[in-house]
Amino acid sequence: MAWKISLLGVRGSVPITGQQFKKYGGDTLCVLVETEEEVILFDAGTGILNLKNLSNHIHILIGHSHADHIMGLGLCKCLNNSDVYTHFYMTPRNNEGCQKMLERLYSPPLWSVFLEQLSSKMKFHNISGSFFIGNIKVDTLEGNHPGGVTHFKISDGNKTIVYAVDCELDEKSEHELIEFAKDCDILFCDGMYRECDFPNKKGWGHNTWLDAAELGENCNAKHTVIVHFDINETDEILDNISKQLSTHYPKCELGKQEEVWII
Ligand SMILES: [Zn+2]
Ligand SMILES: [Zn+2]
Repeated sequence: MAWKISLLGVRGSVPITGQQFKKYGGDTLCVLVETEEEVILFDAGTGILNLKNLSNHIHILIGHSHADHIMGLGLCKCLNNSDVYTHFYMTPRNNEGCQKMLERLYSPPLWSVFLEQLSSKMKFHNISGSFFIGNIKVDTLEGNHPGGVTHFKISDGNKTIVYAVDCELDEKSEHELIEFAKDCDILFCDGMYRECDFPNKKGWGHNTWLDAAELGENCNAKHTVIVHFDINETDEILDNISKQLSTHYPKCELGKQEEVWII
């Protein structure tokens, strides 16, 4: 049975609007995967507000609690519907579990209510290692990002998607990620910066698009989809990068909001 993958948001750090961002989109990260039985989301940036169809159970894998990855939660349809059971999965950090980390943003005075006061039923999962969502196996890997980040791999034994966003590859994390994502069908990878910008942004926890493309090659991903674009990257700039990718890395492309993949 095929999986449907919908890119609901691909921007990093903060959302942005305007004519020059229409093609690649301005919502922050959220990728929807619909398998035969499960609805799984990677991250809950403002892209989650584009989620149209709800199911009774929605599983949200969140790599870390930086605001761009959770800023769509408060008003998303799934959390404001009493027929929906929403499951959150996060790696505990600094002695805080999943619920506590999400409530840093979603509690007074930063938000009007606590998450639990919304109408959806919710379960907060503190994760480590591997676990299952139905028949989908989820593996995790810690990445290199300020404050920590979890990368995810989901697989039904035939198809595999790796979501490695918010990472700045160093020798150790690159080696680990190449093993983790080996031969996957789709690798979603952070390619926030251009080479020319990178010297001033070293240590901020993100790759260049070239690093992401190389990673895809090195782990033999069937498709590499680069996401988490900086808000300075207009459609014109991203089109230019896209051309270079199609020449030198034909299995790699830039993600576009509203794009749908079937694997
Ligand atoms: Zn981010
Ligand atoms: Zn981050």
